[in-house]
Amino acid sequence: MPNYRIEIDRSICQGFGACVELCPGGFYLSDEDGKSKLRRGESVIEGGENVKEFINVDEKGCYGQAEATCPFKAITVTEL
Ligand code: SF4
Repeated sequence: MPNYRIEIDRSICQGFGACVELCPGGFYLSDEDGKSKLRRGESVIEGGENVKEFINVDEKGCYGQAEATCPFKAITVTEL
């Protein structure tokens, strides 16, 4: 059973990739819009835009560091 839900609100992500530097196994920058995406994440599409992604994981790992570091608070880690 997964223990945490990781979400990224791509509508407020500004790119630059602090989360990618801290957690390259979890995030990468999209070639299309320069914003962060979750590896193996599921996308939420609204108005043709990929506005949010989420994934459920067993271990918080480096996702927590990414959450704490994102200057725009675009990443949330929630215990399930
Ligand atoms: S640190 Fe935050 S604003 Fe920067 S790329 Fe990651 S999610 Fe986007």
